[in-house]
Amino acid sequence: MLLDCVIIGGGPSGLNASLVLGRARKKVILFDENKLRNAVTHESHGFITRDGIKPSEFKRIAREDLMNYPDITMENQRVTDIKKENDAFVVRAEDGRRFRSRKVLLATGLKDELPAIEGIHQFYGKTLFSCPFCDGWELRDRPLVLISEDNRAFHMAKMISNWSNNLAVCTNGNLIFSEEQKEILIRKQIRVFDDEIAALEGESGRLAKIKFRNGNELFRAGGFVTTGLTQAAPFAEVLGCKMNNMGGIETDTLGRTNIEGVYASGDNSILAPSQLIIAASEGSKAAIGIVHDLVNEDF
Ligand SMILES: Cc1cc2nc3c(=O)[nH]c(=O)nc-3n(C[C@H](O)[C@H](O)[C@H](O)COP(=O)(O)OP(=O)(O)OC[C@H]3O[C@@H](n4cnc5c(N)ncnc54)[C@H](O)[C@@H]3O)c2cc1C
Repeated sequence: MLLDCVIIGGGPSGLNASLVLGRARKKVILFDENKLRNAVTHESHGFITRDGIKPSEFKRIAREDLMNYPDITMENQRVTDIKKENDAFVVRAEDGRRFRSRKVLLATGLKDELPAIEGIHQFYGKTLFSCPFCDGWELRDRPLVLISEDNRAFHMAKMISNWSNNLAVCTNGNLIFSEEQKEILIRKQIRVFDDEIAALEGESGRLAKIKFRNGNELFRAGGFVTTGLTQAAPFAEVLGCKMNNMGGIETDTLGRTNIEGVYASGDNSILAPSQLIIAASEGSKAAIGIVHDLVNEDF
């Protein structure tokens, strides 16, 4: 059977794309290996009607919605390979089965790489987060730290100061601020620690202090970290999609990449802020793009 679209990735982007495609009577398969980017958190914030929801519960409700549409099939497994053969894409799943499809939507998300600091993993997603728009409210007015090793630090510090005026920035031995930026931070009473970090300490996911290699300690109740971002799946590059200078997949406003028949949506474009609601909306837009293109081809 020739499918209309294979959707790879069942985060908010792929889920919403599936909904729109299923409602447009398109035969689709949604593949998902269930490694959501925000799986480390207990709660997701900022999605109207779903504020504070557990990531797994969000997904359960979304999949329940999809069950109303007979043209949507869900496969809980990884896609291992995609190839263009004649006019169709051949998608291979982990169990070895092959599926032929007219279109492919990459909603595969991103992977975060945390700085190599002892103890950091036990706090990530509990009291140490990557985005103040997602978790700033929960940390408001607390003594916070921003851990950042690169030039995103100044912008992030500025943003975080919106939620707490007790902020310190730790660069873990990296000299990343210009003299002018340092002066501004001092004026705003944001302390900068350039010393190398030995470890983060605390209990049950609650950050308590930062220990520096020079023996000093800084007491903090939570904070933010800038993470390294990479594509969670290699398909965009394998298929020849144009990437932007941040390593995201370049698309038009309806998710079309430069490769005919290949679409992308959600975090994997990197340019949009990372939010569930934005990923879902981009999934919806890409699905509309796919339906437009299929109808135009067939009409
Ligand atoms: C710590 C943290 C906290 C966050 N908190 C919030 C918050 O409170 N509110 C908010 O709005 N946003 C939050 N975010 C951002 C949010 O998680 C992302 O914006 C959102 O998950 C992006 O959705 P997506 O569908 O693009 O990708 P994802 O949600 O990452 O989903 C991608 C899916 O594709 C699957 N996949 C990848 N490759 C394959 C493959 N080869 N085969 C099959 N499946 C594959 C993955 O397993 C995954 O299930 C947070 C992010 C982090 C890191």
